[in-house]
Amino acid sequence: MNPLENIRIVLVDPKYAGNIGSICRVMMNMGITDLALVSPGEHLDWAEARKLAYKAEDLLDRIQRFQTLEEAVADCTVVAGTSARTGFYRDHAYLPREIAPVVLDSAAHHKAALVFGREDKGLFNEEIAVCTHIINIPSSELYRSLNLSHAVMICCYELFLLANDASYKPPEEGSPEADGAMRERLYEAWSAMMLETGFCEIEKLEHMMLGLRRILSRGKLTENDTKILLGLAKQSRWCAAQLQKKKK
Ligand code: SAH
Repeated sequence: MNPLENIRIVLVDPKYAGNIGSICRVMMNMGITDLALVSPGEHLDWAEARKLAYKAEDLLDRIQRFQTLEEAVADCTVVAGTSARTGFYRDHAYLPREIAPVVLDSAAHHKAALVFGREDKGLFNEEIAVCTHIINIPSSELYRSLNLSHAVMICCYELFLLANDASYKPPEEGSPEADGAMRERLYEAWSAMMLETGFCEIEKLEHMMLGLRRILSRGKLTENDTKILLGLAKQSRWCAAQLQKKKK
């Protein structure tokens, strides 16, 4: 299967329909056809989108809509978020060229997503947290942030180049990778474990979980890895509950 068919472009809360149309065209140019929107604004000018999606209107008609980013990437293994900013959990950023093999390797067997933020505010920290990787496109300090559709183009172009490189061979799959839904179940179980075992206070939980998400995203998290980590949380919560009972 062509790995480009397994790649989803996710736009979070886009404000300008013109950008959505331009992105349809960009995607079609680069052979990527799965476009999803997360809570798009209600007053988007779809006629404008159609104009800019010239000859790629088909993608516009097939857009999937989701309420939350978690839902949009629930079936995706690699979820690469893009940010014009670096620092605070965004500092392990990849170049589009560096992330291309990571995304394509995964897309050979699973769905993978590239996530783009709002034109005005980018992606919020809680959305960045859902991503397994962060991409930063180098740009001049005169003006760091690119137009949304241009950022999509640069990322899609790198994927297209690599997918069409005759020397690129996707890997055989060993153990299947965990998808977004499984990862979120794991993080929920670990949040509960950290509280119930007294590992951290509720005020520190969010910060701690961001760190944990980054640690667990550094390698490939397989379904088997996730099952072990889920089992650990389950047993620890059970032990914490037993201790509580004894105290009473
Ligand atoms: N002020 C916002 C800019 C948003 S630009 C911010 O600081 O994040 C809209 C979107 O385009 C971003 O959310 C990101 O998805 C993409 N984008 C723009 N410039 C980028 C860059 N240099 N690297 C990676 N993504 C970029």
